[in-house]
Amino acid sequence: MLRDCDINEISDGKKYTLTDMVKVTCDDCKGCSACCSGMGSSIVLDPLDVHRICTCLGKRFEALLESEIELNIVDGVILPNLKMAPDCVFLNEEGRCSIHPYRPGICRIFPLGRIYEDGDFSYILQVNECSARNKAKVKVSKWIDTPDLKKNQSFIRDWHYFLRDIHDMLLEKQDEQLMKQVTMQILQFFYIEPYTEERDFYEQFAERLVHAKKLFL
Ligand code: SF4
Ligand code: SF4
Repeated sequence: MLRDCDINEISDGKKYTLTDMVKVTCDDCKGCSACCSGMGSSIVLDPLDVHRICTCLGKRFEALLESEIELNIVDGVILPNLKMAPDCVFLNEEGRCSIHPYRPGICRIFPLGRIYEDGDFSYILQVNECSARNKAKVKVSKWIDTPDLKKNQSFIRDWHYFLRDIHDMLLEKQDEQLMKQVTMQILQFFYIEPYTEERDFYEQFAERLVHAKKLFL
């Protein structure tokens, strides 16, 4: 999601890499689920997020649209986000995440966010988002709790800049019909068409990305 804001207002002003230490741990969020409620449509899901949730629930994308996710326009492209009503549909009665090992990337890194610059990205600490006190330091790579980190970081980067290029292309063309066609095809390519469990997700994503770039850019 493109946001035009001063990072000094929302963060401590630092940019973190995977090897940096950051003050985020919050005693396992005991008694708090504040960031799992009232988030509107802000937990936007990338193809890996949807693949994880589909795997966890044994459902296809279309079935998730019935209760767990919804579609919204983000920077000119239709993308899925977690449904909040106003709690996240995955928040259980104990105030815990019922899909914890499969939770989306935004949830994994919170209260860190990402800042994209010069074809790459780094992490920022969003200082107004989590009110837990007495936080301890932890290495960013440990905090984000994501396997295959190298492949994951490439995927995050490639997906973001692909969407940015699509956004710029659509802005330049100013063609409503084209916009509808491209956004529907992006949904189909990257979300609706399931990823097989037999092969690495990132390899499958990379193939689809090459194909989509040829087609749209
Ligand atoms: S707001 Fe902070 S303490 Fe509360 S659930 Fe979220 S990360 Fe945990
Ligand atoms: S998926 Fe889990 S961690 Fe993310 S908002 Fe929902 S309940 Fe919270």
